[in-house]
Amino acid sequence: MARFHWILLFVALSCLVTSLHASAGDSDPKYKDCLEQCEKSGCVGEKCFQHCQFSSDGKPLDGPWYLQEPLYLRWKQWDCQSDCRYHCMLAREEEREKLGDKPVKYHGKWPFWRVYGIQEPVSVALSTLNLAMQFHGWLSFFILLNYNLPLRPNKKPYYEYTYLWHIYGILAMNSWFWSAVFHSRDVELTEKLDYSSAVALLGFTLILAILRAFNVRDEASRVMVAAPLIAFVTTHILYLNFYKLDYGLNMKVCVAMGVTQLLIWAIWAGVSHHPSCWKLWVVVVGGGLCMLLEIYDFPPYWGYVDAHALWHASSIPLTYLWWSFIRDDAELRTSTLLKKVK
Ligand SMILES: [Zn+2]
Repeated sequence: MARFHWILLFVALSCLVTSLHASAGDSDPKYKDCLEQCEKSGCVGEKCFQHCQFSSDGKPLDGPWYLQEPLYLRWKQWDCQSDCRYHCMLAREEEREKLGDKPVKYHGKWPFWRVYGIQEPVSVALSTLNLAMQFHGWLSFFILLNYNLPLRPNKKPYYEYTYLWHIYGILAMNSWFWSAVFHSRDVELTEKLDYSSAVALLGFTLILAILRAFNVRDEASRVMVAAPLIAFVTTHILYLNFYKLDYGLNMKVCVAMGVTQLLIWAIWAGVSHHPSCWKLWVVVVGGGLCMLLEIYDFPPYWGYVDAHALWHASSIPLTYLWWSFIRDDAELRTSTLLKKVK
């Protein structure tokens, strides 16, 4: 059985690694020509960009301050290069579409249409919905424990995993917030924040899966399980941020942590006879199937909806079910503990 899991993990890993191929779009000679022209003339076809107007000494000429974009728009950091890349990509994709060719990736990303300067509007909207869903789940968990279920004489909840789920809720909301920011505009900073918060969330949920599935309740054992994992995740985040943003390595780390916790939950659901184990099953199987969307990376339909956006859509109902499982678990543990007290 254990061997089979390793094979499964290996297959999942190799699928993901092979999907990380180089982008065809930016090696296209016509696209390269367009970029070169644009960076000299500041125009693509009829369209010219403010950011590409240079003065005689080569400094960008954005005009007097009152003609510049307001500060609240400048955070997006659009510059000459990114304007040229975007409009050359659109021009090139239009030509390709007329010839009946399928979209290709440019600089590692599918061609998306911007909406009010937002790069991937659908992913932003879905990340925001996920954030709202996490908040709803976390709030209902908080209300259940503090107002609906009986408390211990010291006014603390009976459920032993309360604080862990609170930390989970905060990390999950943090992660969706940065996901929304990253999909609105990807620059180095937003990318690193998005990746780091996703890794932190994934690492913490792995700790939680181990602690819950193995019923680790005393503080010392919890520290023994969590410490090496926290050390590993922290090192990985520091490596990504300050040494090298290695996508391949990060993908492997994330898939390994993700698959491990899905397996832990799946096996636990099978052996624990938890009354809400069907919810766990749906989340595990659903989560696994949705991972396929990330592997089967299709181009955006109508310039907006790609596999990654659908992946973000799929986690909305799963999040709802997930928090519902957590609430059931809290109720179950509380009633078991109350029976013991009586
Ligand atoms: Zn995303």
